[in-house]
Amino acid sequence: MTSHAPAIVILGKGSLATARRLQQLYPDALIHGLAGRVEGTDRSYQDFGATLRQLYQQDTPIIALCAAGIVIRSLASVLLEKGAEPPVLAVAEDGSAVVPLLGGLGGVNGLAREIAAGLGVAPAITTSGELRFGTCLLNPPSGYALADLELGKRFVSDLLAGESVRIDGAAPWLEQAQLPQSEQAQLAIHVGCDAREADANELVIYPRCVLVAVSAQVPELAAAVRAALHRAKIAEPALACLLAADSEMASPALHAAAAELGVPLRFAPAAGSVAELAAQAWPQLLAPQCAGEGVAIAVAGQPIDPQRIGRARGRLAVIGLGPGAADLMVPAVKAELARANDVLGYETYVRMAGPFRADQVLHCTDNREEMQRARHAFELAAQGRSVVVVSSGDPGVFAMAAAVLEALHESTDPQWHSVELQMLPGVSASLATAAQAGAPLGHDFCVLSLSDNLKPWDIIEKRLDLACQADLALAFYNPISRSRPWQLGRALEIVRQHRTPATPVVLGRDIGRPGQTLRTLTLGELTPEQVDMRTMVLVGSSTTCTFARADGGEWVYTPRWYGAGRPG
Ligand code: SAH
Repeated sequence: MTSHAPAIVILGKGSLATARRLQQLYPDALIHGLAGRVEGTDRSYQDFGATLRQLYQQDTPIIALCAAGIVIRSLASVLLEKGAEPPVLAVAEDGSAVVPLLGGLGGVNGLAREIAAGLGVAPAITTSGELRFGTCLLNPPSGYALADLELGKRFVSDLLAGESVRIDGAAPWLEQAQLPQSEQAQLAIHVGCDAREADANELVIYPRCVLVAVSAQVPELAAAVRAALHRAKIAEPALACLLAADSEMASPALHAAAAELGVPLRFAPAAGSVAELAAQAWPQLLAPQCAGEGVAIAVAGQPIDPQRIGRARGRLAVIGLGPGAADLMVPAVKAELARANDVLGYETYVRMAGPFRADQVLHCTDNREEMQRARHAFELAAQGRSVVVVSSGDPGVFAMAAAVLEALHESTDPQWHSVELQMLPGVSASLATAAQAGAPLGHDFCVLSLSDNLKPWDIIEKRLDLACQADLALAFYNPISRSRPWQLGRALEIVRQHRTPATPVVLGRDIGRPGQTLRTLTLGELTPEQVDMRTMVLVGSSTTCTFARADGGEWVYTPRWYGAGRPG
C-alpha cells in the first residue's frame, strides 16, 4: 500500500473539469497538465510518457484522464522492473468510465470504486477475487501484512474454485466481505502475530501489533531484535515499530536497525530500562517483556499506529530551489518538499516552491529575519516534524544554510542537536546565468556578494581588488539595492583599474523566472542603472571572449587554458 497522494495527469483542456472533480475527492492530489495544451494546472509537463514513468517509479498512484492504451504503452517499458507497484487507473476524460489497470496489491480496485462512486458511474473491475468477495484478500488494510504473496495467490484460486473458508483470529475488515464461510472449512484465514510455518491451506496475515523497545548500545541491533522476536515465537512482519530513548535520537545504529527491519523508529523520554520505556510510551499495554539486554517486546491486542507512539526524530532540510524554473530544481529537493510538514522562508521563495497540500503549514517571513527563521525551524523540527527552509538558487550561497548552522552552533539544546539536518543543493544564480550566456565562468572565477549589510565595505573592496589582480572572472551577487545605491559604482571603479573597457560583461535578470532577460555588453558600457537587486553580474577575465551565435545573439566564454597553456 502506498501512502502518496495520487497524481492526476491530463493531456488537454477537455479533461480539466473531470480532473477538478477528482481533486475534490483527493484534495492532496496535484493535477499535471501538458505544457502548451492546458493552463492553470498544479504542475505542467513536457513529455507524457516520461512523466508517467517517473511517477510510477516514485510509487505515486496515477489517475490518467485518457485512453487506457496510451497509459499501457507509456508504462510498458518499466513494468517488468517493479515488484510492488502503485495503483494506475485510466479515467475517461468526461468521467464516464473508471478502469483500474495496475497495482492490484496497491489498492487500485478500492481506488477505482471510490473514484467511480464520486463520479456516479460503475468501476470496470476485472479482478475475479475482488468481484466475487468484494475485497482483495491479498491486500489487507494498513496495520496488517500478508505473510506470503505466492501462497496467497494459490489460496485465492482455491477459494475461487469453490472451496469454503474459516477465519481464525480478528479480521474486522473482512466482516463486510462476501466470503463462503464455514466452520468446517479446510481453508483458513489466520490473523495473528505468532510465527507460523507456511501452509497451503492457510492465508496468514500478521497484524502489526508488536513494539520492540531498544537501546542503541546493543551490538548488531537488527539481528538482536530478530533473535528476540524468534525466541518469543513472534513473526517478524508483525513488528510495527522500534522505540528508543530520545537521548539516543541521533544514533546511526538505531536508524540503521530500523531501516534494516523496515519499520518506523519512534522516541520517548529515557526511562530506567527499555521495558519501562515501552510501558511509559504506551501505558495501555500489557507489561512489556524484557527479551535480553537492551531489548523489550510489547504486544498489543490490535495493530499499533506508530504515529501514536512517542514521536519521530525531527528533520530539517535547507533546500535550494534553483533560479526558479521547475525543471532546474533537483529531484531530491522536490521529494523533500513533498514530505515537508512545515515550510519556512521568504514569501516569494515559499510561493515559488509550491503548490502545497492543505496539510502543509507555510511560515512566510521577511527576507531579513534569517536567524529568527532558522531558530523557528529548529523549534518545529525538535517536535518531530519534517521541516523545510527554502532558499533560492543554492542554500549555501549567500542564503539560509549558513544561518541555520549558526543557529545550531549557538544552541545548547540537545533536542536541536538531535534533529536530522541536511542541506540540499540547488543551481545557483551565477551558474544559471553563466549557462545561458555560454561559459563565462569556464575558468577560475570569484564569487562575491556586494552587500555590506553583514560585512564591512572595505573588506569587499580589498577582496575585489585582489580578485581583479588575480585575473579571476567575477560573479557579483546582491549587486545593488535601494539601501545600497553607490556600492556597485565604486566596485566597478576598482574593476576598471585592472580590466580593459572591452572586457565582456553578462547581466542576467530573473533568470529561470517569468520575464527573464540576459544581456551581454562590455565593461566600458556597464552602468549601475542597468542593474537591480534581481540581477546577476558576471565580469570576464582578461581571456574571456565573445562571438556571434547563429540566432543573432552572442556566446561568451572563458577558455580553459591560460597564458602559455593553450593546448596545440
Ligand atoms: N542563494 C542564491 C543567492 C541569494 S543572494 C543563489 O544561490 O542563487 C540574492 C542575489 O542573487 C540577488 O541579488 C541576485 O544578484 C542573485 N539572484 C538570485 N536569483 C536570481 C535570478 N533568478 N536571476 C538573476 N539573479 C539572481
